[in-house]
Amino acid sequence: MKTNGYAALRCDAPLEPFSFERRDLRPNDVAMEVLYTGVCHSDLHQARNDWGWSQYPIVPGHEIVGRVTEVGTEVKHYKRGDHVAVGCMVDSCLACDQCRKGEEQLCRFACTQTYNDKDRITGEPTYGGYSKHLVVREEFVLRVPDGLDLSRAAPLLCAGITTYSPLRKWNVGPGSRVGVIGLGGLGHMAVKLAAGLGADVTVLSRTADKEADARSLGADRLLVSTDEAAMGKAMSGFDLIIDTVPVKHDLMPYLPLLDVDGTLVIVGQLGPLDEMSSLPLLMGRRRVAGSPIGGIAETQEMLDFCAKKNILPECEMIRMDGINGAFERMERADVRYRFVIDMASLDAPGAT
Ligand code: NAP
Ligand code: ZN
Repeated sequence: MKTNGYAALRCDAPLEPFSFERRDLRPNDVAMEVLYTGVCHSDLHQARNDWGWSQYPIVPGHEIVGRVTEVGTEVKHYKRGDHVAVGCMVDSCLACDQCRKGEEQLCRFACTQTYNDKDRITGEPTYGGYSKHLVVREEFVLRVPDGLDLSRAAPLLCAGITTYSPLRKWNVGPGSRVGVIGLGGLGHMAVKLAAGLGADVTVLSRTADKEADARSLGADRLLVSTDEAAMGKAMSGFDLIIDTVPVKHDLMPYLPLLDVDGTLVIVGQLGPLDEMSSLPLLMGRRRVAGSPIGGIAETQEMLDFCAKKNILPECEMIRMDGINGAFERMERADVRYRFVIDMASLDAPGAT
């Protein structure tokens, strides 16, 4: 099927209109019309080749909500017209111990990323949700629960699951003291989800500018991470800290904030960090961990949890042709708190 979207053709070029073919349906494939796609900081990293493995052209987008247009002959759970969603993965081996546990994101043979990766069967490039249509293997399609606002659900597919998964892994619930470093797309979902799970939530932000926002999102307080006196007072006050900072940074100011056996989970920066001392780790039996997205079953659990608790991302709707401006604003941390592309704008006339 012929489709169109926006692609980065080089690391130093703005995204531009791009036409390409989606594969014919395999028996276990679901085809969908993309309705909304969230703009994740990972889209920007990969369009710019920040991680060093970008293969151009790149059609970004892994926070995708759509409507089923056609299903393969062996598809069991979806039919034409269903509202569905796709996140960061579109395939995995489904046979290794991790896949069998429902941790497809940790597949021993590497899960297939929604874009900037290769199809497991044909080796063709995968292209993401900054496009009109998508074809995905049934096992990697999520159901959007009834009652979840379609126009706001897309960011749950990456920002939502990436923060929900560590909250669940570290058993966050009433009585847990959770810190969230960086109030952006991931950070604001971490706040909403941790508060939804009953935790006491503190935002750690570089300035006090987002204090009112933090509280209205469900945080109990905002701690300015550059205020040494306030950081000193908060020592040993957290069970879990989720670090969403998207660039190389220093963990040392944050580690003393963890209580004994507390964990700082990195979900942001992929790559080097500033040099770190083991002192705060040893002295407080503290841990530093990392966490990538979440499994398919857990993603469905998160969507159902959000529908039940009416937890939705704060979205700023943009047109597809506004993506380059949105990337620039994201780079300046000027997003409150997630851009979502209305894919109907792709074919609609309007301002550029
Ligand atoms: P975002 O919306 O741009 O938010 C990042 C936040 O980090 C900003 O709002 C800002 O918060 C803070 N920040 C930005 N620049 C900073 C700097 N130079 N120093 C300190 N803090 C800074 O990004 P996002 O979409 O949430 O993504 C965050 C990171 O997570 C990205 O690197 C992305 O690639 C990664 N990610 C990882 C996974 C995973 O599976 N683990 C999944 C999705 C995304 P304040 O203004 O409050 O300080
Ligand atoms: Zn993402």
